[in-house]
Amino acid sequence: MMTNKPSLISRLTSRREALKFLGLSVGAVVAGGAATRAQTVGNSESKPVSRKRVLRIAHLTDIHVQPERDAANGLIAVLKHVHDQPDKVDLILNTGDSIMDSMSQTDARTQLQWDLWHKICNEHCTIPMRSALGNHDIWGWTKSKSQTTGEEPKWGKERGLEALGLKRAYYSFDQNGWHFVVLDSVMPYRDKYKAHLGKRQLEWLEKDLAKVDPKTPVLVMSHIPILSVTPLLAPDVSATGDFEFGGGAIHLDGQAIKNIFKKYPNVKVAISGHQHLVDRVDYMGVSYLCNGAVSGGWWKGKNLEECDAGYGLIDLYEDGSFENQYITYGWEYKPNA
Ligand SMILES: [Zn+2]
Repeated sequence: MMTNKPSLISRLTSRREALKFLGLSVGAVVAGGAATRAQTVGNSESKPVSRKRVLRIAHLTDIHVQPERDAANGLIAVLKHVHDQPDKVDLILNTGDSIMDSMSQTDARTQLQWDLWHKICNEHCTIPMRSALGNHDIWGWTKSKSQTTGEEPKWGKERGLEALGLKRAYYSFDQNGWHFVVLDSVMPYRDKYKAHLGKRQLEWLEKDLAKVDPKTPVLVMSHIPILSVTPLLAPDVSATGDFEFGGGAIHLDGQAIKNIFKKYPNVKVAISGHQHLVDRVDYMGVSYLCNGAVSGGWWKGKNLEECDAGYGLIDLYEDGSFENQYITYGWEYKPNA
């Protein structure tokens, strides 16, 4: 006997549920607009769904500006490229190593590089910039080479923080519906450094994330990658035949940081530099993006023949999703510069 009951499909309230029932999925596709149209898969008559972009970010890292190797013109060129993006960039995130080096450089040499940084940024950058500290932005830790005692005013992190307009080496802020956490990757070890947060900063990170509304997506930035495959490409193999890479390559406390992120599923993206290589690791709901280097191989062409001078262009969406592209800006190595 026939019944008057409506069919199962007509009882499914939304088109999305109907598609799900039929085994079809709704897939999003990247496009440039503020609200991108998404393509539907499996049904050409479906209405497009949209997600709203809330922020377009240029992620600049490892700029390493210096008077040599035409680096100053390189920085001017990348800033022009960012400012000329037809689809406007709202914010620059700089994950450090802004100058070539101050960890093992004298007072005068350090000043020369920061002066160059300020001159170029003042003249060529009108987009707001938020920065993290890189190892090369820290003054004098290698005392023998930097000819410092450690007693000099602003020795260590203070000088780099001041140059980058920062009150603290780690901090957080909110913008356009996203929460941003800026970490300090670089801790002293002998006369150099290792990559970790230290106990106090780890505790601060946990407390900071606990205060964020679980519906607010989070982007974390650090100079050194929290998680990256790039150290595995290093040629060093130890005498016992094991992988061997230094504790300055990626975070030694990546496990502890990942465990904190696990408690806060709204942590979506973690961006970094330092390795001058491009990779992406998706792990436990977080995408770890290592976004190359503005300087490529320290202004001497590609790094490892694989990473061109470039920057990340990151779109953040209201729903917590993101898109990342690595953009080259046409920089060419000039051996005689
Ligand atoms: Zn670095």
